[in-house]
Amino acid sequence: MHELSITEHLLDHCIREAEAQNASRIRTIRLCIGQLRGIVPDCIQLYLDMLSEGTIAEGAQIEAESLPVKVLCRDCGMEGEITPHHLSCPHCGGLSLKILSGKEFYIKSMEVYINGNKSTASDHGLE
Ligand SMILES: [Zn+2]
Repeated sequence: MHELSITEHLLDHCIREAEAQNASRIRTIRLCIGQLRGIVPDCIQLYLDMLSEGTIAEGAQIEAESLPVKVLCRDCGMEGEITPHHLSCPHCGGLSLKILSGKEFYIKSMEVYINGNKSTASDHGLE
């Protein structure tokens, strides 16, 4: 159920950003989500539809980009992508992995309407 609190936080952030730009409506929110986060974009969309009612984010679409899990193996030194379900080194099978990426969660860009015109704002980290 952690998508609900994430969506609340996200919505709050997006509305503030959009209002700072005098946007009249939020059209699209593009997210980057690391696969280790276990966040389901469809859930975020669902909660967003629910929470954004009556706000400038009503009807906004979530577009999510899934970011791969990258690790460094402390045993053999291999650096590469793994699936979140097999947290072991694909080269030597070692379990001593350093996570390099895969825990990201941020807004890549946001498309808003400003006085009826489309505008795209980018790169606002949530954390
Ligand atoms: Zn290894």
